[in-house]
Amino acid sequence: MHYYSTRNEKNVATASKAILSGLAEDGGLFVPESVPSIEVKKLLNMTYRQRAMAVLSDYLTDFTTEEIEHCVNGAYTVEHFGSETIAPVCVVTNQVSFLELWHGPTCAFKDMALQILPYFLTTSMKKQGQDKTVVILVATSGDTGKAALAGFADVEGTRIAVFYPDQGVSKIQRLQMVTQKGDNVFASGVKGNFDDVQAFVKQIFTDKAYREKMNESGFDFSSANSINWGRLVPQIVYYVHAYCEMVDKGEIKLGETINVVVPTGNFGNILAAYYAKKAGVPIGKLICASNQNNILTDFIRTGVYDKNRDFYVTESPSMDILISSNLERLLYHLSDEETVCDLMKHLSETGKYQVSDTLKHRLQELLWADCCDDEETEQMIAKMYAENGYVMDPHTAVGYGVYEKYVTQTGDTAKCVIASTASPFKFNACVSRALGSETDQISEFQLLYNLADKTGLELPVSLKELEQLPVRFDGVVDKDGMYGAVSGFLGI
Ligand SMILES: *Cc1c(COP(=O)(O)O)cnc(C)c1O
Repeated sequence: MHYYSTRNEKNVATASKAILSGLAEDGGLFVPESVPSIEVKKLLNMTYRQRAMAVLSDYLTDFTTEEIEHCVNGAYTVEHFGSETIAPVCVVTNQVSFLELWHGPTCAFKDMALQILPYFLTTSMKKQGQDKTVVILVATSGDTGKAALAGFADVEGTRIAVFYPDQGVSKIQRLQMVTQKGDNVFASGVKGNFDDVQAFVKQIFTDKAYREKMNESGFDFSSANSINWGRLVPQIVYYVHAYCEMVDKGEIKLGETINVVVPTGNFGNILAAYYAKKAGVPIGKLICASNQNNILTDFIRTGVYDKNRDFYVTESPSMDILISSNLERLLYHLSDEETVCDLMKHLSETGKYQVSDTLKHRLQELLWADCCDDEETEQMIAKMYAENGYVMDPHTAVGYGVYEKYVTQTGDTAKCVIASTASPFKFNACVSRALGSETDQISEFQLLYNLADKTGLELPVSLKELEQLPVRFDGVVDKDGMYGAVSGFLGI
């Protein structure tokens, strides 16, 4: 299996090369040359790890079976994910089930990919003859930074440094990062906003002189951001797994079509569902749920992608995004490289593009889109809890709200799996408020305990223990201090 760049099919790579490079040289994203079909019947009554082996083997064709086994067995353990199921499917009503993707170490779905990416990367390094220590640099607005730290902690042959905007992350998110254990990890606040932090990380990545200095000391840079194929491919697994679980539980018959709802930001998670559908998993509509930053809703309905609009800070912050990078991959699969180049050129020059009617119709056949604002999000959390006793985090609640709109507008009552992307405890203030609890003047940790008391849910140990863990990284640098911070961490 080869991978092409979405902007030039002549840029070909093996899986390991695509994973090591992250982005193609022409600025495009790597996509598989074809989507291997999956025979669901063979994957029934299997464990998550067995299903992961089957799916990943189709895509990582330059990895040996032993290498894939090493990756899967290292990442998807009971120790990291709390149970053998790894991603439980929770049937809540006759129509609605939740695919819970947040049982990993950081309580959000990014663990599903970031727990296995370090194994993919180190295996790819060996295959590509990379003998240097790989340094992962991450600019984060919260969730990704912690998930990357947790994934790379103590992974041999790697170092990881995470920079976050000092005033731009929640108290829990900051504590999650600055208390991270491991001998190869580093985190620092930066005086500035997320854009400043990201600009610096880009600058250091492309600084030739600095890279030479690092190379001489036995280091090289790599990236763990969400356009890396190594982050997307593990996400295909859980949609296959979800379908199999629905059959195994007797919720659906083998072959019955289900709809899938995905609360969407960068379009990675929903794109993985697209690959599963294309591989033959009986998935009907892919329902794309957005918050008030509803650029994707508008795009799927009108064919016009326009990022010249207000940016809103919402209760579902991991979806506060105006450029959904992974959309480029879907546009490529539904059209061709010339179209993608043309659209991306318009996007970078004017912040806007419009697709042809043909492409718009293809998108609409596949996807249905709508959005929920914060008020609707809280109403959904309250309603779901009152009617079914199930607690949703705000991102998942956006998904549920959009599902209700879908049913009202289309009358399609096929069974539906909603991707549940974070533990409610990770966004405890919003969830507590929605459930009618007092939140003013109450500390983060007291909110956690109160929410556990109220709902009877078990408080995730990884959040509870934050109160006691020693702070390892209390540094805050200004933008000029970031080079020094990286050099100090690497000892160069
Ligand atoms: C990252 C994230 C999302 C959005 O996922 P994309 O792959 O960017 O679409 C949704 N919910 C949570 C909790 C997240 O952390």
